[in-house]
Amino acid sequence: MRDLRYLRGVTTLAYENERCIGCGNCILVCPHSVFARDGERKVRLADPDGCMECGACA
Ligand code: SF4
Repeated sequence: MRDLRYLRGVTTLAYENERCIGCGNCILVCPHSVFARDGERKVRLADPDGCMECGACA
């Protein structure tokens, strides 16, 4: 989904690494692949500008 962009650098999406338990549900539900696995237990923001703020990951 890297071709779908409206404005860059304006998303309010905040990922709190210290609170992540590594369940991976955000990866499963995000329609724009904003998250990616980072090691076995953690997740990272792979493409924050892809976020359309749908709220599914929350
Ligand atoms: S709010 Fe929606 S688009 Fe943005 S990261 Fe979460 S699931 Fe993906």
